[in-house]
Amino acid sequence: MDILHIDDQLTDEERTIRDTVRDYVDKNIQPRVSGWFEEDTLPIRELAPELGKLGLFGMQLKGYGLPGSSAVAYGVACRELEAADSGLRTLLSVQGSLAMSSIYKFGTEDQKTEWLARMAAGEALGCFGSTEPRGGSEVAAMQTYARRDGSDWILNGHKKWIGNAALADVAVIWAQTDNGVRGFLVPGGTPGFNTSVIKHKWGLRAAVTCEIVLDNVRLPAEAILPGTTGIESLLACTLEAQYGILFGVTGAARTCYETAVDYAKSRRQFGLPIGGFQMTQQKLARMEIALGQAALVAMQIGRLKDQGKVTQPMVSFGKLANVRTALEVARQARTILAANGITLDYPVIRHMNNLEAVFTYEGTEEIHTLVLGETITGLPAWSPAVPSPLTGATSS
Ligand SMILES: Cc1cc2nc3c(=O)[nH]c(=O)nc-3n(C[C@H](O)[C@H](O)[C@H](O)COP(=O)(O)OP(=O)(O)OC[C@H]3O[C@@H](n4cnc5c(N)ncnc54)[C@H](O)[C@@H]3O)c2cc1C
Repeated sequence: MDILHIDDQLTDEERTIRDTVRDYVDKNIQPRVSGWFEEDTLPIRELAPELGKLGLFGMQLKGYGLPGSSAVAYGVACRELEAADSGLRTLLSVQGSLAMSSIYKFGTEDQKTEWLARMAAGEALGCFGSTEPRGGSEVAAMQTYARRDGSDWILNGHKKWIGNAALADVAVIWAQTDNGVRGFLVPGGTPGFNTSVIKHKWGLRAAVTCEIVLDNVRLPAEAILPGTTGIESLLACTLEAQYGILFGVTGAARTCYETAVDYAKSRRQFGLPIGGFQMTQQKLARMEIALGQAALVAMQIGRLKDQGKVTQPMVSFGKLANVRTALEVARQARTILAANGITLDYPVIRHMNNLEAVFTYEGTEEIHTLVLGETITGLPAWSPAVPSPLTGATSS
């Protein structure tokens, strides 16, 4: 619908990327994605080279054969993929925003040369291990530990909820060391690096989400990402993923909205299309407004990112506001489809369940609220004992 013509702000390059990804998704993903969701799987090895051919992995990065596209172009690509399913956009986020950006920002020339071009092509897969079974919000409390043994590193620990880990050719693992939290590159298949796929998820089923157990994983000295200097390095990568989400979820919401509009025009009750009833029109009008507002937030943050001005509070604003909006739009769409809305014959309940997971990962609503609260008041409210991840200050 786009009553405000927000996409008119796109450059020619951004519009081309939008149309290319939308065409790919319509032809290759939409007809199959509901089946993947039902089967609790995603054919990542098949899809990754296709997304690589479209130039989507690490598309904001420059050099090493990477296109150096605008942040808005990347956001639009996320949006068009997530219009099909959040699992698709998650694949892009994990590979590009998390794993590749860790290597790009903090790796050596050798590490970048070894991995980035192959990952961009979708030939090599990456993952990003931060969260642990005892919690994901308090990143600094992770217990995975890397100790020195001569010049080698020995890693022990447990990571949970890690996208693509079971398929990863290279895992970016974050661990405590005697010098704070650092990132390490662990090649898949390294002895002691054990993965298993988490089953029985009811959101983000078209995705591969895993546990990792690190049991005395021995790595050479050069496995460390030498540019990592602590939690702030990890947060610099998660900011990239949060940015993709704040754009991406507008695609999921758009699909729910468009499905509701079509349904409202064709479903008849009391002798009229249900779209002819004022209460249905009110729902649709509110959804249109919410979508327009979310799209404007995404575009503004995207342009600020392209100007090198993006900050964590801006991205927290967008992640919190846009995921909440997308979830509300999905729920409203579900009410318009009524009983049909709870089946996989329509995409709405799938998006709704996916968005519950997106609501939680890459910073829960509460965590982004705390970022905004500290930004507004200057008072960190994380915990009396724990320093703010933003400023290092404590609330006591
Ligand atoms: C499908 C999926 C994929 C994921 N992929 C990855 C991945 O690839 N890599 C990775 O590292 N992680 C990944 N995650 C993990 C995700 O980032 C964490 O789930 C998230 O950070 C929240 O951590 P938690 O689930 O342990 O909740 P907890 O941290 O235990 O939080 C529980 C609740 O307490 C609230 N809370 C915590 N602290 C406070 C506070 N100070 N004040 C108020 N409320 C608070 C939280 O907001 C939440 O509501 C994924 C998760 C999912 C569901």
